[in-house]
Amino acid sequence: KKPQQQKKKIEGAALIGIDVAKEDDLAEWYQQVITKGEMISFSDISGCYILEPNSYAIWDAIREWFDKKIKTIGTRNAYFPLFISKSNLEREKEHIEGFAAEVAWVTQGGSTKLEVPLAVRPTSETAMYPHFKKKIQSHRDLPLKLNQWNNVVRWEFKHPMPFIRSREFLWQEGHTAHLTKEEAGAEVRQVLDWYSDVYQELLAVPVVKGVKTENEKFPGADYTTTIEGFIPATGRGIQAATSHCLGQHFSKMFDITVEDPSVKESGKSEKIYVWQNSWGLTTRSIGVMILTHGDNRGLVIPPRVAEKQVVLIPVGITAKTTPEAKENLYKSLREIAGDLASVGLRVELDLREGYSPGWKFNDWELKGVPLRIEYGPKDAEKGQVTTSRRDINDKDAARGEVRIHDLKTAIPELLERIQADMFAKADKAYREHRVQITNWDDFVPTLNGKNVLLVPHCHGGKCEDEIKEKSARTAIGDDTTEDAKAPAMGAKSLCIPYEQPEGIKEGETKCINPTCEAPAKSWVMFGRSY
Ligand code: AMP
Repeated sequence: KKPQQQKKKIEGAALIGIDVAKEDDLAEWYQQVITKGEMISFSDISGCYILEPNSYAIWDAIREWFDKKIKTIGTRNAYFPLFISKSNLEREKEHIEGFAAEVAWVTQGGSTKLEVPLAVRPTSETAMYPHFKKKIQSHRDLPLKLNQWNNVVRWEFKHPMPFIRSREFLWQEGHTAHLTKEEAGAEVRQVLDWYSDVYQELLAVPVVKGVKTENEKFPGADYTTTIEGFIPATGRGIQAATSHCLGQHFSKMFDITVEDPSVKESGKSEKIYVWQNSWGLTTRSIGVMILTHGDNRGLVIPPRVAEKQVVLIPVGITAKTTPEAKENLYKSLREIAGDLASVGLRVELDLREGYSPGWKFNDWELKGVPLRIEYGPKDAEKGQVTTSRRDINDKDAARGEVRIHDLKTAIPELLERIQADMFAKADKAYREHRVQITNWDDFVPTLNGKNVLLVPHCHGGKCEDEIKEKSARTAIGDDTTEDAKAPAMGAKSLCIPYEQPEGIKEGETKCINPTCEAPAKSWVMFGRSY
């Protein structure tokens, strides 16, 4: 090992905790955080992971929230088969070209070779749309809005990373059909807003909303809207969720038509192909949350999605404490837990015997519980509890005191403050690393400073490819970890943000790429990405 790679021991880290600093070796840190925090266990298949109850609880929270939202627009849940016939999968040309390299195939059942192999769904457009054709007979059958909570398989050959890029992942995929382009377009944006809320409001992770360029859009889509996240530790962008307007590409291939109701009234009837959308949000969201908030003591879970929001721990019990005094303390703790649960909080009362308070603190910090309440004889005397926020690293700054009398209002407020502060901190980091530049000479140096860039760009696909090539450089040294190789990666366009800064003059402002002749169409966000 080279000396600079020597891992720095974290000061005061307990034996059960993380023993490498996030800023020193992100990959190793991430691995320790997700395994010691019991979010993930590894299976014997590369790129496929076991989601432990701790992470599934977060997925449940996301599901519960999002499922309610999509039902308000008439979406209904359904389930389609895991397998897709070869002929259906290959119906839409661009779609299959985009996915071909990642499709896993079943070629054998028992000892019998299948005559035609079956695809394991990488996404379900081609599994669902033959059924849409049957369901949609008239404009009265529109809109049709189906969603499924399921798994998909994409046999990726890029370096896998738990949650972030796995070969099998969980998601929801919504598929809808509409009479008009406008109606489809409005839904695409509505769902994107909800995706943004999942990240920003639940996971306390900031995102930028925008549209993908032609180069980066979903294979077979008219256009793709996206929310783009950012991992400050590596300076890389990450596609957080996508909502696609598929236009009529699939309805033409799968022959999904209705008679145009407006033309019919005038005597003529014309057949129109329905307008379709598809939208998906995956367990990647959990990984982005962990990478954003986690620190050198482990996970930091935002209160709104935390399975346990508050952990109550007795303190100050010594050999001198009488059994009666101890029982009184426990009794009060049970009452406090009951009070907090009665106002809807998710509370854990840790009365495990044989573990010191310090050990328990470390254990729950590792698991990311947002708030710890300590209660001991001294607190009892003063009629208060001592609180400690997980999101603040400075021990003194993290501490507070709350009167027992005020618990039912003060603790929910404190949790909301933690939620808001976690978002504000992450949002600040993202804003500081979203750098607006107009000069090509600044492009690579700014990128290497772990930033994403907002640049004037022509939206041209070839130009994007050139930028990617020019901004790649060869890796230095023999450190071959994913993050060490990252600087070698070229920058790609992440999105055309909806929120556009001023400064682009039509026909005047040039594309940032010096070898590109075209004028800039808008500010485009570029970056290295996951
Ligand atoms: P897509 O259907 O390709 O638009 O994918 C929907 C979303 O899935 C993307 O926006 C990503 O956030 C996420 N995603 C893509 N590939 C993976 C993967 N291998 N593991 C986890 N999430 C993924």
